[in-house]
Amino acid sequence: MERIQESRLMSPDNATEGRIVLIAPLSGPVVPLASVPDPVFSEGLFGDGIAVDPLVGRLVSPCDGTVMHLARTGHAVTLQTAEGAQVLVHIGIDTVELNGKGFTPKVEQGAQVRRGDLLIEFDLDVVACNAPSLVSVIAVANSDAFEVVERAGYASHAEAGETPLLVLRAREGAVAATSVAEVVTNEVRRSVTLTHAGGLHARPAARAREAVRGIDARVEVRYGERKAAIESVVGLLGLGAGEGATIELVGLGHEAQKAVDAVANELLREAPGEGGEAPARQLSPAPVVAPVASAAGAGVAAQQAPRSAPGTLIGVCAAPGVAVGKLVRWDDAELEPSELASGPSSAESRLLDKAVASVDGELDASVRAASQRGAIGEAGIFQMHRVLLEDPTLIDAARDLISLGKSAGFAWRASIREQIAVLGKVDDPLLAERAADLRDLEKRVLRALANANGTGNAMGAAQRELPEEAVLAADEFTPSDLASLDRKRVTALVMARGGATSHAAIIARQAGIPALVALGDALHKIEEGTQVVVDAGAGSLAFAPSPQDVERARAEKQRLAGVREANRRTSHEAAATRDGHAVEVAANIATLEDARTAVENGADSVGLLRTELMFIHRQAAPTVDEHREGYQAIAEALGGRTAIIRTLDVGADKEVDYLTLPPEPNPALGLRGIRLAQVRPDLLDDQLRGLLAVEPMGAVRILLPMVTDVGELVRLRERIDTFAREAGRTGRIEVGVMIEVPSAALLADQLARHADFLSIGTNDLTQYTLAMDRCQPDLAAQADGLHPAVLRLVSIAVEGANKHGKWVGVCGALAGDPLAVPLLIGLGVTELSVDPVSVPSIKARVRKLDYSQCRERAFEVLALESAQAVRAASRAHWPLD
Ligand code: PEP
Ligand code: MG
Repeated sequence: MERIQESRLMSPDNATEGRIVLIAPLSGPVVPLASVPDPVFSEGLFGDGIAVDPLVGRLVSPCDGTVMHLARTGHAVTLQTAEGAQVLVHIGIDTVELNGKGFTPKVEQGAQVRRGDLLIEFDLDVVACNAPSLVSVIAVANSDAFEVVERAGYASHAEAGETPLLVLRAREGAVAATSVAEVVTNEVRRSVTLTHAGGLHARPAARAREAVRGIDARVEVRYGERKAAIESVVGLLGLGAGEGATIELVGLGHEAQKAVDAVANELLREAPGEGGEAPARQLSPAPVVAPVASAAGAGVAAQQAPRSAPGTLIGVCAAPGVAVGKLVRWDDAELEPSELASGPSSAESRLLDKAVASVDGELDASVRAASQRGAIGEAGIFQMHRVLLEDPTLIDAARDLISLGKSAGFAWRASIREQIAVLGKVDDPLLAERAADLRDLEKRVLRALANANGTGNAMGAAQRELPEEAVLAADEFTPSDLASLDRKRVTALVMARGGATSHAAIIARQAGIPALVALGDALHKIEEGTQVVVDAGAGSLAFAPSPQDVERARAEKQRLAGVREANRRTSHEAAATRDGHAVEVAANIATLEDARTAVENGADSVGLLRTELMFIHRQAAPTVDEHREGYQAIAEALGGRTAIIRTLDVGADKEVDYLTLPPEPNPALGLRGIRLAQVRPDLLDDQLRGLLAVEPMGAVRILLPMVTDVGELVRLRERIDTFAREAGRTGRIEVGVMIEVPSAALLADQLARHADFLSIGTNDLTQYTLAMDRCQPDLAAQADGLHPAVLRLVSIAVEGANKHGKWVGVCGALAGDPLAVPLLIGLGVTELSVDPVSVPSIKARVRKLDYSQCRERAFEVLALESAQAVRAASRAHWPLD
């Protein structure tokens, strides 16, 4: 590294021979970056640079350029040179906490400045007394595009505006950032007296903001001492300009006049029917009508589209049952983001962007759903949340904190809370509503961040003491959330989103906990502690039940418990239809505990071990030995029953902590199931080796997920045989294929030639046949495995397998649906693999059937036109208990 030559000090230009010279923005001793008392800077997380310990409270521009970003609090500024280098000058350490105290910016964001221009004045004493250090950093924010090739000697004295500190050069091949727009100085002012009831409230503010979109000018709104940019609805609300207030609009830029007029017109326009703000946080007075409850594997009868009674939300059944309890909002638990970022600021910033984008997507879906229902007020509220979410005041403040090394979650929360405090100072009940909206957004984004980094459960129910009979409410539970629940205290699970075949739903069914999904955002508005009645079979959540409703629900719960008990007494006997046709009833499991539950409930075998769930919380992929130990323990717990062990099915709706897959535009159609082996063959190899080491060999069978055609199966079969030989195994291990992709069903005859058995995954088969995302709540009612198209594929698969004398099971949720059981048996399925707790009731169902009748009727329903028609026919032939 060269030291800067004196000759360069004389250079009049920023750039010399493609180099950019940055002069000292502050006067004082030069300090190496490594000595800055803040790891964000000293470890170079923000970028390469240098520091100065200032002796004078004046910060001047180190180069010619544009003010890209000026912290609201005046403690930091980022400039962009004509070449695209982005230079941050940050006064002191942790000075954002001073909230502007002691700092006086002398330029505005967007201004063009010359080297040596005064940018910020600050009071040295105030900053010195209130911040941990005065040491100020000059760092290259886009160090990936520009490198420091020379720097001033340490301990030398820098003179602001004179001493060269750093010389930068564009890195080879790096693309410089585009230069920021030229700022023009055409200024227009106009006063407006607000006539809206309620004054400058959220909706007129949002409309005014929209009015200037695309116009080449910036508009600021001033009211008394306060001012706010038109883009910031939060800032505009914080002005506290009520009805009758006179505000001043200040426009800057080429089209300043046009922009100011557009805003004024919008603010003077009386919106039809708008008398101030609609109360934002009330439950929609109109009942919320959710989709028809379906039985997509949930063991629930199809219904007429239920209209919700007042005080009731309608969703989709994910696990049947009745429950009475107190609503506990687990996702309302304080989300505690860690203060410090775990990586560079740029990565943290990207995390925030991703979380904000995902929340925006959710809100957009809510707006559309509410509009479709005609709930215009509700749609407006979510639309307003979208506007707040992209508010530059919030985003900028969060970015400031991120640039100081704070985590995205911490920064977002601090930024929101600051604005809530501002709104709290304005004495206006409507603004209190807006503060509630901000709190909602705080949680949504924190939740999205937590989900993105897999810490969702670490912030949730696992850490909370739950009351007895807790009806746990969440936006959507993830499998990892549920893995750590205190199941004894949870009497039901209710979710605003989710689908009946999502993994959360599957886990709820396995745990025997009644669950409802797709209840909509209205769920979030039910008060914590409210007594609720969940009738999952009917898809309903009553949040204002009468004492009689509660009594009836308790009685029904008891009746169902009685039926369950009776079924359990015979569950250890094999199941056959009345005319003697044997049906194996197996269990779907994910853990050793599930295996024990399966045995207790009388499962004949394990029809599906979802190994990805078994290792979901691990930080590293399981080793060969860990695989073997896990499966061996399960085989032993099963006491001679066989276990069909599915190889890892990661991707799409199933994420595991130890594997971060590259983002895919369409994960459900991406590297799922055995396709993962294309990029991580090691994961599958380790698992197969572990599986082949389980004793005795006959205790386990291998099941391959997401097989598309015979080529994949043959390749994997060869691989398994090779590993078996290497392990010195002589007997042949059985290998089956999941039929969960339409191509596999259609080609079942080819697959069955090489496979030992087929197992139909109706969850995915339904998703891919109907092109309906299994986790999309709006489609939860339609994504029904009893759709004739899905049943025809089941029939084709069985026919294909029978040609080669192979047996077919169903391990998707449809196998546990009492209305589907007679039809699947009729189509020739001989094994039903269901949640362990459902084994007794499915065996009981089988025993009531007549096989010859099942065959006859099953082929008849293939001619029906809808899932509802199939359900109705099944119910008519084989009524439910
Ligand atoms: C299925 O798709 O039906 C299935 C059993 O697999 P999973 O639910 O684990 O995707
Ligand atoms: Mg599947």
